[in-house]
Amino acid sequence: MQSDTRVLVVSEADLRSINKATLGILGKLPGVTKEVAVFGEIESGAVDHIRKYDVARINLLKADTLKDRNPEACLLALMTFMESNRFDIVISGTSSTACDIFPVLSAHFCSGFAAGVDDFHLTGERLSAVKELYGGQCLADLEFSGDKPWFMTVDSGALSIEVCRDGHDCEIIEHDVTVFPSRIRICNTKKPASDRPPLQDADIVVAGGRGLGEPGTLRLLEELADTMGASLGASGGAVGDELAPQEYLVGQTGTRISPMLYIACGISGATQHLAGIRNAKKILAINTDADTPLMRIADYAVIGDLNAIVPAMTRILSAASKDK
Ligand SMILES: Cc1cc2nc3c(=O)[nH]c(=O)nc-3n(C[C@H](O)[C@H](O)[C@H](O)COP(=O)(O)OP(=O)(O)OC[C@H]3O[C@@H](n4cnc5c(N)ncnc54)[C@H](O)[C@@H]3O)c2cc1C
Repeated sequence: MQSDTRVLVVSEADLRSINKATLGILGKLPGVTKEVAVFGEIESGAVDHIRKYDVARINLLKADTLKDRNPEACLLALMTFMESNRFDIVISGTSSTACDIFPVLSAHFCSGFAAGVDDFHLTGERLSAVKELYGGQCLADLEFSGDKPWFMTVDSGALSIEVCRDGHDCEIIEHDVTVFPSRIRICNTKKPASDRPPLQDADIVVAGGRGLGEPGTLRLLEELADTMGASLGASGGAVGDELAPQEYLVGQTGTRISPMLYIACGISGATQHLAGIRNAKKILAINTDADTPLMRIADYAVIGDLNAIVPAMTRILSAASKDK
C-alpha cells in the first residue's frame, strides 16, 4: 500500500555511479513516495541505478557555487529547494557533506535529527531507527516525533543493498537554486593518489592487519587489490603500528563497509573491527592462526602466512585474467 509520507534521499552521486548508502536507503523504502536530490550533475549510469528503486523524481540542484562541494553552498541549495518542496523525511548516507549540513537543516526547520543510524524502519508515518553504541555492543532504538521534516543520516555500509527490479522511468528535474556567496572558500582539493574505488562503495576490499609485520608488506595487498579492482582496508592493529594509513581503517572508528567479498589478511577479528564488516556478503580470512576469532564468522579460510598466500593469489588471478 502506498504511504502518504514523502521522502527525500540526498545522494552523493558522482557522475557515473551512485554511492551504496543511497541504494541501501532506497531499497528500504518500497511503496513510499521518494525523490532523490543530487548536487550538480548526474549521468545515465547513476540514473539507471536509481530507476530500479521506483523513485518518483531525481532533482538536480544546480548553482555555480556547488561545483567544488562547498558545504555552505550545499546547505543553502538544499534549504532553498526544501522551502518550495514539501518532504516529511530527509535521509542521506553519512557523508562529509551530510555531516556538515543535516544538523543545520534540522535546526533551521526546528525538527528532529538522528545521525549515523545503522538501520531504520518507516511504517506508515512512524519512523524508527537503530543505532549502535559502544562499538556494536549495545543497540539503541530511536523514534521520531514532533514537527517535520525529520532528518536522518545512515552509516555508510550499514545497510545491505536490496535490489529492486521493478522500477520505472523517473523524471529528472533541474532546479536553479539561488545560492548567495558562501562564507567558506575551498582553497584546494586533493584527489586520492590511486584509482581504487572508495572503501565504503567497493565490491571487493582487501585489508591488512598487524599480521603484515612491516610497512613494506602492504605492497603485496596493493598488488592483489589492483588485480581484482578492489579497495584497500586495514585493521586498528595495522594502523596503530603504522603498517597502513589511517584512511584505510575499517571498523567502529573507521569506515563501515558492505562489499560482496572482504579479504582479511592477518586480522584477528576484534569486536571493533567486526563492527565495520558486519554487512560484508562473504569473508575470506587469511591467517596463521586457525583459532583467531575472525575464523568463526569467515565464509572461507586459508590457514597460513599471508606473505606466501597473497602473492600466490595475485599470480593466479593475473594469469586467469590474461587467459580471458
Ligand atoms: C575504542 C577503540 C576503538 C577501536 N576501533 C577499531 C576499529 O575501528 N577498527 C579496528 O580494526 N580496530 C579498532 N580497535 C582496535 C581493536 O581492538 C584491535 O586491537 C585491532 O582490531 C587488532 O588489529 P589486528 O587484528 O590487526 O591485530 P591483532 O589482534 O594483533 O591480530 C593480528 C593477527 O595476525 C595474524 N598473523 C600474524 N602474522 C601473520 C602472517 N604472517 N600471516 C597471516 N596472519 C598472521 C595473527 O594470528 C593475528 O590473528 C579499536 C580499539 C578501541 C579500544
